[in-house]
Amino acid sequence: MKIFNTLSRRKEEFVPLEPGKVKMYVCGPTVYNYIHIGNARPMIVFDTVRRYFEYKGYEVNFVSNFTDVDDKIINKALEEGVDASVISERFIAECKKDMAGLNVKPATTHPQATKEIEGMLAMIHTLIEKGHAYVAGDGTVYFRTESFPEYGKLSHKNLDELQSGFREIKVTGEEGKEDPNDFVLWKPKKEGEPYWESPWCEGRPGWHIECSVMAKRYLGDEIDIHAGGEDLIFPHHENEIAQSECANGKPFAKYWMHNGFLNIDNKKMSKSLGNFFTVREISEKYDLQVLRFFMLSAHYRSPLNFSADLMEASKNGLERIRTAVGKLAELQQKAQAAAGQAAAGNAAGDGAQAAAQSAGAGKASMTAAEQENVAAAKDLVAKYEAAMDDDFNTADAVSAIFELVKLSNSTADENSSPAYVSYLKDTIEKLCDVMGIVTEVKHEALDSEIEAMIQARQEARKAKNYALADEIRGKLSAMGIILEDTREGVKWKRA
Ligand code: AMP
Ligand code: ZN
Repeated sequence: MKIFNTLSRRKEEFVPLEPGKVKMYVCGPTVYNYIHIGNARPMIVFDTVRRYFEYKGYEVNFVSNFTDVDDKIINKALEEGVDASVISERFIAECKKDMAGLNVKPATTHPQATKEIEGMLAMIHTLIEKGHAYVAGDGTVYFRTESFPEYGKLSHKNLDELQSGFREIKVTGEEGKEDPNDFVLWKPKKEGEPYWESPWCEGRPGWHIECSVMAKRYLGDEIDIHAGGEDLIFPHHENEIAQSECANGKPFAKYWMHNGFLNIDNKKMSKSLGNFFTVREISEKYDLQVLRFFMLSAHYRSPLNFSADLMEASKNGLERIRTAVGKLAELQQKAQAAAGQAAAGNAAGDGAQAAAQSAGAGKASMTAAEQENVAAAKDLVAKYEAAMDDDFNTADAVSAIFELVKLSNSTADENSSPAYVSYLKDTIEKLCDVMGIVTEVKHEALDSEIEAMIQARQEARKAKNYALADEIRGKLSAMGIILEDTREGVKWKRA
């Protein structure tokens, strides 16, 4: 498997630190609002990376944080007159709902910054001890970038260049810095902000330190993959490398993966420009699987433009796959029913078995032509795997799935052997599942369908066909519908 490593700027062969295991950390969202579809891109992309590793037999320890202490959270809490934790807990819960809708698997661990303060204090302490950090007059602790000659290795920036760029910029409140490139590890509290005790001042952590600490605690000093959106390369990930490598004395992450941006109207999607959609808004118009399918239709490192047309195209593409799988499921059911009939016929010694066999259902094994088609399907599976092995090229992997769908549509029918039908169905479902694409549509009964069933039950009762009325009631009950016979008629509700 090859992965494009931002650190070396080239594709490298993936060699895990420990055979058969992948330790992976993905920077998660700051929780002060519903997540937008830009935030959903790294979630979908790296969930797919995780699923593919699992498909290849790796055991993946996947850690993704929630940043739950930040200016934006504090401001929102002040606006609402509540504690910052009320805001962050609310939006963590909402984010988890969106993740479930997008079929993003929960991480092995979802740590939260505010619950990891102890580890942050310890790492900051180590950095001060080793001379990589210093305390300014007001109690702010800064990382000393000059103490780490490799600073800039991820973003390919040179420290001198950075310094000259910063020379003119003086940030108020940061006068205590030795060097403009230095960054905050710990800062004093401001009025009304959440704060923690520390040896340096009552205050709160800088943003970058949380990820170094959580990665260390849940994955260890050295990890295989660290990932996030490309906007995080500098300064966030650059700073994480500096903190972790200086504190632990070991290389931090072996492979750095970054997803491209999701744009709207070819412009950067941003909350300040107001051109963004939340995942929740999209879920009101589309099945969120369409959004997931849309995200995977492009390579993860390419910029991706969100548009109604592309979403429509994704919706149609997804439907094409689902229709094919639905047809295969139907053929499978028919084959099973026919096999049952054949068995019964066999016992009775009549012609039913012959009839079932002529329909293809009784054939235990595949025909030669089917075997040839299976060989072609296996080539497509290999094509899918080659695409995914090549830096997770989901766009080409999706094309391989479409080719399988085409093969299925043109070769599977009532005359196919059950083995062939099952092979196609299982293969398409498996490859879709690796991408987190659900092929089976859960059919939620519509109000009109339920009302029609209730009407049928009433008619059965009128005709004194109580057995049928009970049967309908049973079906409704299995669907989670509770009936209540009242004076005004039958009322119903979902359980
Ligand atoms: P934030 O809450 O801003 O820290 O973002 C959480 C994750 O979403 C980070 O990995 C960001 O890089 C990523 N992200 C934010 N906006 C976009 C976007 N428009 N396109 C792709 N990724 C994004
Ligand atoms: Zn991070």
